Formats: sequence, structure tokens, C-alpha cells
Amino acid sequence: MTSEGWGPDDVRAGMRSLPKAELHLHVEGSIRPSTAVELAARHGVALIEEEARRRYRYSDFDGFLSAFAWVVSFLREPADYALITRRLAEELLAEGVVYAEVITAVGVMLWQRQDAEANLVAMAEAAREYEPRGLTIRWLPDAAWQFGAGAALEVARRVVRWTGLGVIGFGMGGDEMMFDYREFRPAFDLAAEHGLRRTAHAGEVGPPTKIRDAVEILGAERVGHGIAAIHDPAVAALLAERGIPIEVCPTSNVCTGALARQLGKRDATLADHPLPRLLAAGIPVTLASDDPAMFHTDLVSEYAACASPLGLRPGGVLRLLEASFEHAFLPPAAKRAYVERLHASAAARGFGAVGEA
Ligand SMILES: [Zn+2]
Repeated sequence: MTSEGWGPDDVRAGMRSLPKAELHLHVEGSIRPSTAVELAARHGVALIEEEARRRYRYSDFDGFLSAFAWVVSFLREPADYALITRRLAEELLAEGVVYAEVITAVGVMLWQRQDAEANLVAMAEAAREYEPRGLTIRWLPDAAWQFGAGAALEVARRVVRWTGLGVIGFGMGGDEMMFDYREFRPAFDLAAEHGLRRTAHAGEVGPPTKIRDAVEILGAERVGHGIAAIHDPAVAALLAERGIPIEVCPTSNVCTGALARQLGKRDATLADHPLPRLLAAGIPVTLASDDPAMFHTDLVSEYAACASPLGLRPGGVLRLLEASFEHAFLPPAAKRAYVERLHASAAARGFGAVGEA
């Protein structure tokens, strides 16, 4: 595909055919309304799809967090987690995703007094079924800021024991405004001591100082969202100079009201998203879908949005595709192999011709 075939449908078709990585994806946020109905039925709860669809409509971040809490209330045993892993894996394969680092809310599992390890075992087993079909899933268990530092440390204590289950990192998400990030340092230090990679949602709805704290105090190696970097050139430079990627999820930012809040513009739309500005500032960016079911999106749609309305040309989109592999928590040789595969596939399709910025 070259610049002549750069309409929305061409981009969608092209994106589906190219190998991709997804680095910011919550398995609990991938539960489609039909699967929510199925999960509810397993536990004797009457639920119709329309109700699930209604729950997935909200206009601000608190509304989103409430919807997330609502849907996870139907995840009660390991078989439920295995089911949502399989459903997600099928979607990823259909989209051409070959590698995914999937976040799972271990903080919520512990808060619900579940056997989190049994859940992880079930998810890991379900994910392994997809390796022969060309999809590798690794896990990034996370804790929720709003449950506090003690709960986060407890999550980290569990997570460091699960590397045999495909767990490669530890992260934090949720309501970034509740506490000072400093309090969470013991959890991140423990994860680091055990060789786990670290991520943190920061600068999604909060100020750019949260991004700085995530990097400088918590040692985050990637930042979830990080769009608040547009407000502070020093924070943007910090990310650019240290090569710390931000995981940008445009549709999520619109749906949660994070974009409206960051821009001070109530009716902000995808066309207002600062992704092009973040790229222009030299910040490493990976594109992701976050909670695709809850935001009525998928990764292919996020790439399509980069082309239109965000105006990236084929070369720019190809660089985002490369970045999705380059910033994965994988050994260098594995990343190179994926990027080479992407280049071969792109060349075969005439995608992202040289010189197209
Ligand atoms: Zn997220």
C-alpha cells in the first residue's frame, strides 16, 4: 500500500495484514457485551446484552472505572479468566497481532479475595493454546493506585513468583490522582529486584509531574498514556532523552474524558488527539487499544485513526508498527526478528514506501 491507497478502508485492510504487537491491553477491558452476558449466566445473574452496552457508555473517568468494576464482578473463578483470555486471543489473531503484553488486574483479584495464582495459571494455559497459531501472549499483572501502596506491595509479592507463567512485568493503573507515587516505590523496587519490567499509567488524567514521578521515582520503563507530556517540555524531553515510551491509546482517551480534561475542551474528539505532537517532540510512542471492548475499538481501528483523522502518512504508521515491537519487554534478538518480519511483510505489500513521512 502506498500513498494512493491511503483511504480509511485501505488502511484497515493493510493494518490487518501486517504483523503487530499490542503493549497496552487490559484483558478485563476486552470483555465484549456478549461475553459479559455469558459470564453472568455462569454465575446465575440475569443480564441482557443491551444492559452491558448501556454500562459501557460513560462520559468521564469515574464512569469508566465504575463500568470496569461492574464487568470484573462477573469474573469469579479461574475458568472465567480462561474464557476471556481465549476470546481476546481470537480477536488478536483476527487483527494480525502476533505478540501481546496483556495487563491483568491482580489488585482487583486480591481485593475480591480470589485465588489470583489459580487465575493466572488458567490464563497462562489458555494463552499457550494460541502459540502454535502464531500469537504469543505475555502477562503484566497490575495493581490499582486507588487501593493504596500496601495493596500494591502485596500484588508485587505475588507477581514476582509467577515468571514461569509468562509474567514479565509489574504495573500500576487506575486512579492516578489518589496518592503520591512515592508511596508505591517498595512495590516497584521489589519487582525490579526480581528482574520484572515496570510500567505505570501516568499523565492520563493527571499532570505531567505524575509522568516524571513514574520514571524517576518508580523506575517505570514504559508509561501508560502519558499524554500530559504535552503540557511540560521538560517532561517530554525526559521521555525523549531516556527513550522511555508512552503507550498511547487515542480512542480510550476520548471515551474516558482524559483527552477533554488534558485539553480543557469538553467536546474533544479523536481529531484533537496530541499523538502527532508527542511524536514531533521525539517521544517514543507505541499505539495501543487499552480496553477495546469498553471503548468500542480494536488495534486496527487505532491505526486507522492515526491515518485519519490524525493525518499520519504511511511511513509514520510503519514507524509506529516498528515501535510496537521495539519497545516490547523482549530480548533484543526477539525484537529484531519481529521487526524484520514486519519489514518483509510491509515490503511485500508495498506499504510505507521510503521517503513517505
Ligand atoms: Zn490502561
